[in-house]
Amino acid sequence: MRRVLRHAPIFRLICAFARTRLLARRLKTRLDVEAWQQRRISRWLRGAVGSTDFYRHHNAAKLSSLPIVDKALVMAAFEQFNTAGLSSAEAWQVFESGRQRKGYVVGASTGTSGNRGLFVITDAERYEWLGVMLGKLLPAFPFQKARIALILPLHTTLYDSANRTRRLHLEFFDLHRGVAAIAPEIVDFAPDTIIAPPKVLRWLAEHDHSLAPKRLFSAAEVLDPVDRDIIEKRYKMRLGEIYMATEGLLATSCAHGTLHLAEDVVHFELQPVQDTDLVSPVISDFTRQTQIIARYRMNDLLRMKTDGCPCGSPLRAVTEVIGRSDDVFELPRASGTGIVPITPDVLRNAILDSDRSITDFRLIQIDHNDLRLLLPDTISSSAADAAETALRRLLQSIDTHPRISLSRQALSLPTTKLRRVERRWYRAGSST
Ligand SMILES: [Zn+2]
Repeated sequence: MRRVLRHAPIFRLICAFARTRLLARRLKTRLDVEAWQQRRISRWLRGAVGSTDFYRHHNAAKLSSLPIVDKALVMAAFEQFNTAGLSSAEAWQVFESGRQRKGYVVGASTGTSGNRGLFVITDAERYEWLGVMLGKLLPAFPFQKARIALILPLHTTLYDSANRTRRLHLEFFDLHRGVAAIAPEIVDFAPDTIIAPPKVLRWLAEHDHSLAPKRLFSAAEVLDPVDRDIIEKRYKMRLGEIYMATEGLLATSCAHGTLHLAEDVVHFELQPVQDTDLVSPVISDFTRQTQIIARYRMNDLLRMKTDGCPCGSPLRAVTEVIGRSDDVFELPRASGTGIVPITPDVLRNAILDSDRSITDFRLIQIDHNDLRLLLPDTISSSAADAAETALRRLLQSIDTHPRISLSRQALSLPTTKLRRVERRWYRAGSST
């Protein structure tokens, strides 16, 4: 009996893996997906959701009757959203001391200081999370062994204990040490599967010539097409994609390269973003029992795929994860009053399409009408001029005329999230 208990989390992984594979076959239509979600959500609302302080006084019988929450609200009332009885002060203490509470894992996202998100899950939940991810990414596991390098900027030991299983060798590499420092260890490990932010995969593609992975997945950051091209050319394979957040696993790409929402574990409400063809997700992760993620408004902008995928999956698909709504530039209208919003993908495309030699840049809104454009010091002055001209033309075409300061310099890789288009200035009273 003791032996069974000791291995209980592994059973969660295997169950989650098997369920994910089974659901991939069983859920054939939208009606199937919605019926599955309804059953699981009802049980979840009656159980974990209804037993947390925040929801005890709400009518938790229907998901749609719960209030929409966001990160600020959940962080301010952390103890009301988790069944572990952890306050945010206690959770920070656990996180900073590195001494986890038995059976629980406390982690934090890599936001800017003061804007970081805490999360708490149980050991069993992290194995379940891993089982779902493996079920979606590695259909041949556990019949084929998997040797996975997970290179993520999370301050937690979320994954590393899974490397105890015989079929799965999982190694966690701490990105905070810098990609150059961990690269030799990744090469020594010789993974067949690498899951990493695109900036790391690109760095490996450009610097290392001995890795020979069979599967590559971009995760945890926006995947720009320019990075995809470089990575796919070097490794001669299609780059898979994982859309994830500290809030959970949100989407994974199928064999056809289409990014499908993980609607077998998360319920998505896709809210239109005004004056764009984009949506912003409000998520409910109905697998989570410890920290409740119910009608949680994400900060992300997605462009949804409107036609079907050849794989036949009924799970809705995302054409592109654009970035954070915080990084939508807001510039004053040149010919009158008011603000013009510009999404990161439009700005990115103008710069990258201006000259083929430009494969990296940073564009930062530093004041209400001031932008800073940084380009690598390796590109020619004519390419830099082309980028600045393309950017000016774009901004003029939408009736804005900001000052642009251009400089060429070595662009370093941040150990936190890479945001090529970044807004650092906010109007008084606007949310951050
Ligand atoms: Zn598909």
